Amino acid sequence: MSEDTISSTNSDAIDAAPADALDRQEYTGKYRYGMAEYEKTVNRRKSKSIKIGKVLIGGGFPIAVQSMTTTDTRDVEATVRQIQALENEGCEIVRVSVLNMEAAQSLGAIKERINIPLVADIHFRYKLALEAIKQGVHKVRLNPGNIGARHKVEAVCSAAKDRGIPIRIGVNSGSLPQDLLKKYGHDDPEAFALAAMRQIEILEDHNFNDIAISVKSTNVNTAFYAYKILATMTEHPFHVGITESGTLWPGTVKSSVGIGAILLNGLGDTIRVSLATDPVEEVKVGKQILKSLELKHEGVDVIACPTCGRCQIDMIPLAEEVERRTKHFKAPLKAAVMGCVVNGPGEAMAADIGIAGGDGIGLLFKKGKVVGEVKEHELADLLVSEISKLTGEAVAPDDPLSDIAGVPPIEKKSDSRIHKITSGKNRLEGNTSGRGGTLKSEHPDWLPESAKK
Ligand code: SF4
Repeated sequence: MSEDTISSTNSDAIDAAPADALDRQEYTGKYRYGMAEYEKTVNRRKSKSIKIGKVLIGGGFPIAVQSMTTTDTRDVEATVRQIQALENEGCEIVRVSVLNMEAAQSLGAIKERINIPLVADIHFRYKLALEAIKQGVHKVRLNPGNIGARHKVEAVCSAAKDRGIPIRIGVNSGSLPQDLLKKYGHDDPEAFALAAMRQIEILEDHNFNDIAISVKSTNVNTAFYAYKILATMTEHPFHVGITESGTLWPGTVKSSVGIGAILLNGLGDTIRVSLATDPVEEVKVGKQILKSLELKHEGVDVIACPTCGRCQIDMIPLAEEVERRTKHFKAPLKAAVMGCVVNGPGEAMAADIGIAGGDGIGLLFKKGKVVGEVKEHELADLLVSEISKLTGEAVAPDDPLSDIAGVPPIEKKSDSRIHKITSGKNRLEGNTSGRGGTLKSEHPDWLPESAKK
């Protein structure tokens, strides 16, 4: 272990640690210094690509976010309404349950009125799959093992092949075959991978290769290793999720940890977050997981500090307001809303636009440069209009700025809300202890040269 590593850790704790813990420290140290071992971006597994309507997954195509309706599929109105809400939130593929023939026969009417690919979820009854395919769905989710006789699987494969649509096989905690359960017990990743391979082999046996697979456990570790094992066995694309992950808050954490770990290992081609709540939340969480891993570069990413006793503006509502008023923007942009000048300038300068709070003001940064200071009550409108200019996209129709702003011209006249930084007594002073604090000219002396005009 290097001296540096020891000095940056609690040396007493290391002295008291058992030998194997020291080995782990040693490994961490080596790994930390062996920068070549890091991948800056996720190194995605090479998988085959499949086409689900207009969406391609696998083969390096962007990871698609999908969800599933909770309505009775026979109720076309309610199902379409829910799918439209999912679309508005950014859902890219939607799945519906097909419980009976009436539900299967509703699929065409639903498909007509939506803009994203439709997937039929079917169990046991192959005739439902045949009807769903006839109705024009873009993918079927079924497990050939529970469809039964060979001629039934053959009929589904040939109908899907005729229409050029894929089949997704889904192995879940609750659907492991008895013999694998007996041999491996519950929550064994190898059992999940082997169960998936059995289903794949049935389809491949029918010369059907347009396949996606999921091995979703409710146990994060099991799911993680099941995908890892399966990745050594097949090149079919992976639909990733942690099944039945729970209600909104714990389910979001569990899904983010599980899906995040799997994606970070390069193993996902499409994701579905399973939450016991409105499925719109699943899409929000899914998109945020992808944004967090920089696997999706879309929309405004608001970086906000947690605030602390140094913060002298009402920052959290400001960050929430900026997030709410810019969530429809598509262009990728980073906006930093920071409470004070301790970490504020660093984050704000690294972002496309940002503010660092002072006493009743915010110091405004654009593209790494300090632009001026803005009164606290003008910060939200200013940030929203500046983001609108930078993205070239209009503010929302119901935004307070919509009447006057629309898409403001990029080349603007100077904004009267942005003032020169106050010289003399520094109103940021309270937040700059240890960093200088008193303004020597137009710029606080704690600002790096690169930020000064
Ligand atoms: Fe506190 Fe300032 Fe850090 Fe925000 S940026 S958490 S206000 S020190």
